Amino acid sequence: MSSLLFKLLNLFLESKDSVLDFIYPPHCLVCGRYLSKKEGHVCEGCWNGLGILPHPFCPDCKSFFPEDKDRCFFCSGNSNLSWVRSLGTFDDFYQELIHQFKYKGKVSLGKRLSRRLSQQMKKDNRLLRFDLLIPVPLHPAKRRERGYNQSEILGKVISREMNIPLLKNALKRIKKTEDQTKLSDEERKENVKDAFEVSSPEVIEDKRIVLVDDVITTGATLNECARVLKDNGAKKVVGATLVLAFK
Ligand SMILES: [Zn+2]
Ligand SMILES: [Zn+2]
Repeated sequence: MSSLLFKLLNLFLESKDSVLDFIYPPHCLVCGRYLSKKEGHVCEGCWNGLGILPHPFCPDCKSFFPEDKDRCFFCSGNSNLSWVRSLGTFDDFYQELIHQFKYKGKVSLGKRLSRRLSQQMKKDNRLLRFDLLIPVPLHPAKRRERGYNQSEILGKVISREMNIPLLKNALKRIKKTEDQTKLSDEERKENVKDAFEVSSPEVIEDKRIVLVDDVITTGATLNECARVLKDNGAKKVVGATLVLAFK
């Protein structure tokens, strides 16, 4: 390639983003307003208006309870997770943001949401005593297809913000599960049954673990992961997700 052509190509690549920004100025994914240079994906107004959940909740009946309780006292839930914390509930705003993070490659948006979740988690002193973070794994084929595991990205940010080590490969998904969105509660439990495996039990033995995922709906996936971790010696398991979705 001639050096002139090479220089032109480089010039084009360097200016590509600003040219694109000029033709399609970036706009807020929530309200559609044009964004300033500093704002990424969501404008400050919408970002500050996102609903935040202040309390942990029961993975079974989804009741919120105060932080001095370690188990739900509204139901006799026998989940393998003691409790779960989420940043918000799955409203239209979060739905759009998580869709963009998960399926449209907007990783920086996912990281921004993860930092916000970390800020919430830091307020819960109990979490500072946890030993490990484990992201809910994708099946290797699905990870290849998507290019990344959104739970792992979430876990990396929380790990850095909270100073809790992230263990990426301790839990493996060994069964290709169906998409759960159209399944009933019972079908979801059946779908994820025996879908996970602990590869090195010695590293989780006697550990307090935070399982990390993007969404909790019925809790079937997180509960099955927690069951396998506990069967392999984990002392305690709780969950952290970006959102809580009601079916
Ligand atoms: Zn906005
Ligand atoms: Zn409950």
